Amino acid sequence: PRNDMDNRAHARIDLDALRANVGALRAKAPGAAFMAVVKADGYGHGMVPCARAAREAGADWLGVATPEEALALRAAGLGGRVLCWLWTPGGPWRACVEADIDVTVSARWALEEVVAAARACGRTAKVQLKIDAGLGRNGAQPADWPELTRAARAAERAGAIRVTGVWAHFSCADEPGHPSIDRELGVFRTALAQAADAGLDPEVRHIANSPGTLTLPESHFDLVRPGVAMYGISPVPQLAGPEEFGLRPVMTLAARLASVKRVPGNHGVSYGHHYVTPGPTTLALVPVGYADGVPRHASGAGPVLVAGKWRTVAGRVAMDQFVVDLGGDAADPGDEAVLFGPGDAGEPTAEDWARACGTIAYEIVTRVGPRVPRVYT
Ligand code: PLP
Repeated sequence: PRNDMDNRAHARIDLDALRANVGALRAKAPGAAFMAVVKADGYGHGMVPCARAAREAGADWLGVATPEEALALRAAGLGGRVLCWLWTPGGPWRACVEADIDVTVSARWALEEVVAAARACGRTAKVQLKIDAGLGRNGAQPADWPELTRAARAAERAGAIRVTGVWAHFSCADEPGHPSIDRELGVFRTALAQAADAGLDPEVRHIANSPGTLTLPESHFDLVRPGVAMYGISPVPQLAGPEEFGLRPVMTLAARLASVKRVPGNHGVSYGHHYVTPGPTTLALVPVGYADGVPRHASGAGPVLVAGKWRTVAGRVAMDQFVVDLGGDAADPGDEAVLFGPGDAGEPTAEDWARACGTIAYEIVTRVGPRVPRVYT
């Protein structure tokens, strides 16, 4: 009988590699607690299995963007500390308070909503306050911060909330030496001092993402919050590959050839005929496309290991499939095509795909679609 390994395509997820990556990252920040960032379906690797594996490897916290993701972790039976940070008005504050999830507050409206939810269910909400140290997304503006911390302290005295954390997120930590790094650390330190002035005494103060964890020890504070590095992808590819950071890529994306056939020269390939065979040749059909997360920008550029060699996507990536030109080489329907993996069996890496598509490896793994089964090894 066929199993997922034999299907059209699958993403192999190496949870041993993930656990080892957690260990390597924890060793870089030995004094800090560890938050495994598992948002966006674990960067495409599967949120719940990755969260479980990260916990097994010693992750103290799980971090997700949305409250729905946090609630899904609880529904899957994951206990312990969980932080979520991307709220919109009217969000499921009460459900999160009842599920003992730490919620992030960046503005007065959010503080008011979480206080109301805590009162409604008669519990103390765990709240982490976020400062915009310079990224320009959410987080309180420094000018609004002293007032937000005072209001949070008042809510804490009233028993509605407990401020468990103060945190921020870097804008350019992946660019070594970028002047924003020290500037943002300075804004963060000032915000911490102001929070203390307001009478707050948070358990955890944190700003370090993957690049911070790996390259900026001064950013570790009480907790590090790496995402992409835990999945074995270098967060600073211009500086070092994953192996130089002691990391191993977790995902391998593979498909099985759906067709192999001889065609004459001057044969157009895929929509728009952007590739035309230079002479008689063998075309192989790889049955994954942009609906599976293969970027259409990979048309004419994405690398694939087929029949022992790197091939390039010939012509356009279609919704469900793309073609490679094997030239004089042979292959059979059902043979494996490896789009990316750790790279040590000769296959391209997610970073190679990112370069070919003008994007970052984060996007390559995160966009692998729900039609591709994840197979855990
Ligand atoms: N913390 C926050 C708030 C994030 O949004 C992210 C992801 O973008 C991370 C940490 C992890 O970042 P990285 O994947 O670069 O480690």
